Amino acid sequence: MVRAISILGCTGSIGRQTIAVAEHINMPVAALTANRKIDLLEEQARRLHPKFVAVYDEAAAKQFKIAVADTDIRVGSGMEGLVEAATLEESDCVVTAVSGAVGLRPTLAAIDDKKRIALANKETLVCAGDIVMARAAEKGAEIVPVDSEHSAIFQCLMGRKKGELRKILLTGSGGPFRGKARRELEDVTPEQAVKHPNWSMGAKISVDSATMMNKGLEFIEAMHLFSVTPDDIQVVIHPQSVIHSMVELVDGTVIAQMGVPDMGLPIQLALTYPERQASMFERLDFTKLKDLTFEAPDFEKTPCLKLAMDAARTGGTAPCVMSAANEVAVGLFLRHALGYNWIYDAAAGAIEAVGVVQNPDLETILEADAAARAYVLEQYRK
Ligand code: MG
Repeated sequence: MVRAISILGCTGSIGRQTIAVAEHINMPVAALTANRKIDLLEEQARRLHPKFVAVYDEAAAKQFKIAVADTDIRVGSGMEGLVEAATLEESDCVVTAVSGAVGLRPTLAAIDDKKRIALANKETLVCAGDIVMARAAEKGAEIVPVDSEHSAIFQCLMGRKKGELRKILLTGSGGPFRGKARRELEDVTPEQAVKHPNWSMGAKISVDSATMMNKGLEFIEAMHLFSVTPDDIQVVIHPQSVIHSMVELVDGTVIAQMGVPDMGLPIQLALTYPERQASMFERLDFTKLKDLTFEAPDFEKTPCLKLAMDAARTGGTAPCVMSAANEVAVGLFLRHALGYNWIYDAAAGAIEAVGVVQNPDLETILEADAAARAYVLEQYRK
């Protein structure tokens, strides 16, 4: 059983929902980290009394230290601070809710300390899945997914033997622009793109859901988490988001996990696993459900999904380059600096321009990540 948790990225959407769950189930929070939203961080820290807080941004860390000088909270900064939060002795589970490749080093450090990883940072597995999963197996650290689809698959596979799985059915709602062609999306604004029909999420992942890059990243994430090949995963569009994913077993049985679309549910399970506890979330009322529909993805209309599935097959640094380029492009789109369709062009262009290295070590991965980011910024400035 988990005694106390560290939350990396506590001011983001998943971080805030994790705090709500932790408070509801009386789970102590030993450490918090944030990038630079120190007003919210201070409010959280005063309420939760963590032992240690890290602020990634050095200047913001200095300000935060002054703000909490009247408390006995220790304050750290930078990557060193994130790693310290991830390896704090008092905590035995690390919720990795930071966005981007910044989560990689602290996750590996927590794995080395045999802590449970409640994994909410897709990039960790997308960029370095082979390294992270091998390290977790070697150290005996548990990785419990927080992403709703992966939590669903994880739950469907509980008590199953590896040989019983025939394929994973990864479901996705299709996002707010389902069925729309590229030319119809030219003038999409960030405000339109972040309006997800079912889920309430942070801005970056909401845009990824609109482009379906999110489903592509989840495809890669699932390959690593459940050690399957691209051929073992089928993406199914299910607009109502009632089924959060399924597995088909060798005998043809399909097991689905269902529930209301609320990230609090997979977050809570990641903290209480293997136990379950009463939760504060809404219940699924089958008498109020109308249609549950399913369709195949239209790859012509979701080029980002196709790009990610191809990158999964290419392997090596391809998924990392694509993901890093996407992250920068989405950031620029959210600041109204470039158009919606440019996101795909940036991600596809980066793979071409940066190239792919097979069997990369951590350093090579971080170099590929940096090269992809530099490529997108350079294209933007042209
Ligand atoms: Mg998801």
